[in-house]
Amino acid sequence: MKKHNFFAGPSILSEYTIKNSAAAVADFAGTGLSILEVSHRGKEFIAVNDEARALVKELLDIPAGYDVVFLGGGASLQFCMVPYNLLKKKASYLDTGTWASNAIKEAKLFGEVDVVASSKEANYTFIPKGYQVDGDSDYFHFTSNNTIFGTEMRYDPDLPVRLVCDMSSDIFSRPVDVSKYDIIYAGAQKNLAPAGVTLVIVREEALGHVDRPIPTMLNYATHIKKDSMFNTPPVFPIFAALQTLKWYKEQGGIAAMEKRNIEKAAILYDEIDRNRLFRGTVTVEDRSLMNVCFVMADEYKELEADFGAFAAAAGMVGIKGHRSVGGFRASLYNAMPKSSVEALIATMKAFEKQH
Ligand SMILES: *Cc1c(COP(=O)(O)O)cnc(C)c1O
Repeated sequence: MKKHNFFAGPSILSEYTIKNSAAAVADFAGTGLSILEVSHRGKEFIAVNDEARALVKELLDIPAGYDVVFLGGGASLQFCMVPYNLLKKKASYLDTGTWASNAIKEAKLFGEVDVVASSKEANYTFIPKGYQVDGDSDYFHFTSNNTIFGTEMRYDPDLPVRLVCDMSSDIFSRPVDVSKYDIIYAGAQKNLAPAGVTLVIVREEALGHVDRPIPTMLNYATHIKKDSMFNTPPVFPIFAALQTLKWYKEQGGIAAMEKRNIEKAAILYDEIDRNRLFRGTVTVEDRSLMNVCFVMADEYKELEADFGAFAAAAGMVGIKGHRSVGGFRASLYNAMPKSSVEALIATMKAFEKQH
């Protein structure tokens, strides 16, 4: 039976990515060797690394003065690398969920942290608005998409300080004005590649302002200077990332992705709002296009396990909600076809008929 992959991360990749990655595991670029066993210093892989970084710049329309590097350690390592490299005295953070609060915890090791607003008291069901960011903050950090709670900031804020954003779960889902940001980072396993690589976009001018010594591997400048090849990079995830980036380009680029993402999310949210068995969990205006969270309506709470089993029997995989929200979460990343969203909606309608 066809499986519909709604996992939040690692998550669905395009068939193009899977097919080409599988082929390269057997024979990489006609070398007669597997991508899993080649030197990262060979000309074939250097070409992959360079092309992937160039395609990131092209797809996101990144202006001059920025570098793109692929690092290890996951998005979680960026929670400490950002303040290590950027925080002189004080930084401002917006607390919109688990990942944001993990980032705040790390930043506190490096200086004063001003949490400008938080929706924690409401279990992160909305994005705080109307907060003030001090002009003397070294930067403002936010999480554009809250993977666990299903809220998203689908805009690039206008603030008087440097912007740093964790875009792990919505990078490439909409065009972004990169010129507003000093650092954008994203773990690959949501919208780009298998786990193991993190994409970091850095404005060169943002570096070199802190006095503290920075360990070599945690210094962005180290990786930029060596074209993201200071040490052995995650070779296979970078190869897979390149396939996804090529697929994005072939599909019409990021604007085309956004158009599809808006359509996919709209039909699912419409069904959640229409179907008496279900309800959404977050403020409507802050609903994420990437992670659609919903629960059983109060009168149907006891049907939760039944719906989970019913959906699994219909081929839906990975729709169980995160334990801090409960219910269900359907992740609709770029590679998710509309037909899978339609299959989930048909399943919800069929379940409604039975009750
Ligand atoms: C998944 C995720 C992370 C954590 O990524 P790791 O690569 O596991 O460290 C951080 N932030 C967001 C928004 C995420 O979705």
